Amino acid sequence: MERLEQLCKNVEKHRQLICDAHDFIWEHAESGFKEWETSGYLEKAYEKLGYTLVKAGNIPGFYTDIDTGRPGPKLLIMGEMDSLIIPTHPKARKDTGCVHACGHHCQSAALLGVAAALKEPGALEGLCGSIRLMAVPAEEVVEFEMRDELRKQGIIRYFGGKQEFLSRGYMEGCDLAFVVHTSYGEGSFESANKGDNGCAFKNAEFIGKAAHAGGSPHKGINALYAANLGLNAINALRETFREKDCVRTHPIITQGGSVPNAIPSKVVVENMVRAATIGAVIGTNEKINRAMAGAAAAMGAGLKITDRAGYSPLHNNFRMNELYCKAAGLLDPEYPIEPGTEWSTACTDMGDVSAFMPVLHPYCKGAAGPAHSDDYEIASVEKACVNSAKIQVLLTELLLENGAAEAKAIVENHTPLYSNLEDYRADLDKLMIDKDAVQMNEDGTITLNYKE
Ligand SMILES: [Zn+2]
Ligand SMILES: [Zn+2]
Repeated sequence: MERLEQLCKNVEKHRQLICDAHDFIWEHAESGFKEWETSGYLEKAYEKLGYTLVKAGNIPGFYTDIDTGRPGPKLLIMGEMDSLIIPTHPKARKDTGCVHACGHHCQSAALLGVAAALKEPGALEGLCGSIRLMAVPAEEVVEFEMRDELRKQGIIRYFGGKQEFLSRGYMEGCDLAFVVHTSYGEGSFESANKGDNGCAFKNAEFIGKAAHAGGSPHKGINALYAANLGLNAINALRETFREKDCVRTHPIITQGGSVPNAIPSKVVVENMVRAATIGAVIGTNEKINRAMAGAAAAMGAGLKITDRAGYSPLHNNFRMNELYCKAAGLLDPEYPIEPGTEWSTACTDMGDVSAFMPVLHPYCKGAAGPAHSDDYEIASVEKACVNSAKIQVLLTELLLENGAAEAKAIVENHTPLYSNLEDYRADLDKLMIDKDAVQMNEDGTITLNYKE
């Protein structure tokens, strides 16, 4: 119990540092791969604590290592930095519409608190192995075109910050990982789900032919009707989705024509495919592309498919979840929690990390209002940031104490989905599709070309 009190004190001592970071990052909300001010602020704060950083350089974010001096597994602890873009949120930045409506600023502030607490005398006493603290960019997928531009420039390979850091090798040598996300509701902590879906991002451009909608519609090809057929075909496919695959797909039309008296020549459908396995994401994506290509062909329209790999499914490690619940019970005995048993159909790039090592993505309370909504705010910085830092320090302790017995057992009992980056990239590449999917041949046949 004495040790628990000491660990909490180590965090509380840095309450001001944590709160200041919270306030600064909230005020300077930045969307993914643009978190330069956030990253800069954190870099200075970490360096002031005496940390040597490895900076990503051409994108925001960095990591630093702490060695206990005793051999053992390497624990990776992450904090996300990016905001959302919700211009209607009352606290959104006037210039960019950016606002931390998912609470990632609390993760960054809490992780800084962890960094500070681990520098306290005796903090690493009794621990084995090492710890990597990592400030990661871009968890939320927004600004698709900007990210695709970064991709074309060769700056990033994937749209998620953790995916990108993983792909760059920044997680090599790490054996297990966690990130604590902010949430809302009663109590102080919330365990992780069983896991989350993986996903792909989709953009389909139906290409028709403009004509006078009243005078000469017969001279046109209606791209909107082709898109409508495509959406109906997607809906008709839903009965082929198996329950166990937890498939979600939710297309929207982002460009549907320009004026009502012209036949629409260009209609854009943006969509996502989410599923419980990467195989189900790939398979469903293929069906959807076939449906849209068939619909375009039926109308004599063209179809340009631009698909991008999203996140891999997240599998939370059960033992780590149990240890998180244990830590939560020590910090807030009034609200005991149990490991979650539900599978979530949302997605996070923590899933990509879970394809390589045991991970945990649990929650810490303190927010008010549902994430991503206009009502989201932080009701208690103490709960969302200081408590978060405390439970992270305590979870680290539980994993790495006693010769890192728990961490070692977790790693030994875990079979990663991928053992190398090549296999991982090969799967994600199946979701990187740039195709002109419909070709009308002179002999009357139609060639559909919608697969990777
Ligand atoms: Zn979010
Ligand atoms: Zn989030």
